[in-house]
Amino acid sequence: MVPPLLQLQSTFNLKLLPPPFPFTPTFPFPTLIINSQKPSNSSPSNNNNRKNRGKMRKPSYGTSRKSILKKSFNQEQVTFTAPFSDDPLVAIIGGGISGLICALFLEKRGVRSTVFDTGVHGVGGRMGTRVIDPHPLVFDHAAQFFTVNDPRFAELVNAWMDKGLVREWQGTIGELQNGGHFVPFLPSPPRYIATNGMRSLAESLLSETQMVNVMRPCWISKLEPFNGMWHLSENGKPCGKFDAIVIAHNGKCANRLLMTSGLPLIAKQMKRLELNSIWALLAAFEDPLPLPGSTEVPFEGAFVRGVDSVSWMANNTKKLMSSQSGGPHCWTFLSTAAYGKQNKVPQENIPSATTARVTTGMLEGVEAALGLSKGSLPKPFYSRLQLWGAALPTNTPGIPCIFDPFGRAGICGDWLLGSNIEAAVLSGIAQANHIADYFQSPGTDPEEFAVGLNNEFQPLEGHDIGQFPGLESEEKMNEGQIYELAK
Ligand SMILES: Cc1cc2nc3c(=O)[nH]c(=O)nc-3n(C[C@H](O)[C@H](O)[C@H](O)COP(=O)(O)OP(=O)(O)OC[C@H]3O[C@@H](n4cnc5c(N)ncnc54)[C@H](O)[C@@H]3O)c2cc1C
Repeated sequence: MVPPLLQLQSTFNLKLLPPPFPFTPTFPFPTLIINSQKPSNSSPSNNNNRKNRGKMRKPSYGTSRKSILKKSFNQEQVTFTAPFSDDPLVAIIGGGISGLICALFLEKRGVRSTVFDTGVHGVGGRMGTRVIDPHPLVFDHAAQFFTVNDPRFAELVNAWMDKGLVREWQGTIGELQNGGHFVPFLPSPPRYIATNGMRSLAESLLSETQMVNVMRPCWISKLEPFNGMWHLSENGKPCGKFDAIVIAHNGKCANRLLMTSGLPLIAKQMKRLELNSIWALLAAFEDPLPLPGSTEVPFEGAFVRGVDSVSWMANNTKKLMSSQSGGPHCWTFLSTAAYGKQNKVPQENIPSATTARVTTGMLEGVEAALGLSKGSLPKPFYSRLQLWGAALPTNTPGIPCIFDPFGRAGICGDWLLGSNIEAAVLSGIAQANHIADYFQSPGTDPEEFAVGLNNEFQPLEGHDIGQFPGLESEEKMNEGQIYELAK
């Protein structure tokens, strides 16, 4: 169970305060009014396109970072003036946990939504689990585990535990210093894992909803304001019209989508986000991994210190199938952000030479971390390498959600508050409540609902694979005490 202190506070109901900054009512951009009474052409860029059809030259810019910036900042601001419909429908573009939670909490407030996600195997985004048949081999290949701090998150986690979707990870985790020195973390705070892997938790979140539609795999490639609604499409194929949209993804894909959408303020905030890159090496071994002088490593998960190529390693067989004895040992090794950057290639097209080099580099890193002599790490009988090119945010505006009430568009995602599942969940809740409040308002004072459009970004602290507040080893605690005494 989540600690009682958190439970006591869990009745706290999230409601966003009015924007903590004065929202600039005069947009620094030309404005396009989208009015339901008068049919208009669609997006600002399309208006021009149609007028000049035939005369148009090919645009001089493509989709490089520079040209995305140029397009994003030159676009006209969309302003919807149509009254809200009685039964509004929200498009959520991204079925990671922030988008799924946003849909769930919109339903709690009586608002319908459609979640669009590119996932071929399922929703969940960076909460991904790979199952390789026929063994089966099981790996959480992005998010590994989480801690709980906020009472609203604690309340959800308790409900997931009651349903058997989540459980405490009782296995030993800690820090592994280069050379094989392992220091366990204290048992508190508890750490949690999804019982059948992270993806299964994401998949089950919407299983009982009535007002959420999920479209997958679907890659939204265009957003167009038309007749008081947002029209979405995937490579020219219409995907429906919506009263408001939520961008629940980030990185290059979101920047491209936003560059001609008519949402320059949203696009500007998205462009400020910086993300690291992490390699994930999934490897299955016949036998337990050894430490020098002992038969088996004494941990199930470890943050690795002092090794260039590896920042985290976890035995997924022990973590997810604790009752299984013998059999394959499935390990997830995650790189450092520095190694990710150093070896970055397009994630959808990894050259085989890079795969070979990075796989070797990471296995050598594991060997060094365990203090094994060169060449003595057993060879995995299965391995698979993946690059998370846009892995974890390294800066944040520190606000639960962003919303442009004139363009009826918002953003949710981990990066708005931090770099972990908890941050993503809190952001999804905040965006849902904010939009529901907006729809319930008379609509006469949209400015009141502008939030996060001008917030400055701050660097994010934490591990390369995210934030786990409160996790500390006894050694670290003692170091802290020594420091306190010495002051
Ligand atoms: C390697 C790695 C390790 C991590 N380890 C941990 C950990 O141990 N603990 C922890 O708490 N957190 C961890 N995290 C972070 C955690 O996974 C994220 O904070 C969280 O999952 C983010 O959820 P999200 O909804 O904000 O975004 P995402 O999960 O990225 O969801 C965005 C979704 O949008 C989809 N999408 C993108 N573009 C489009 C489009 N145009 N149309 C439709 N769909 C689209 C994507 O496919 C994706 O499914 C880790 C992340 C990585 C990469």
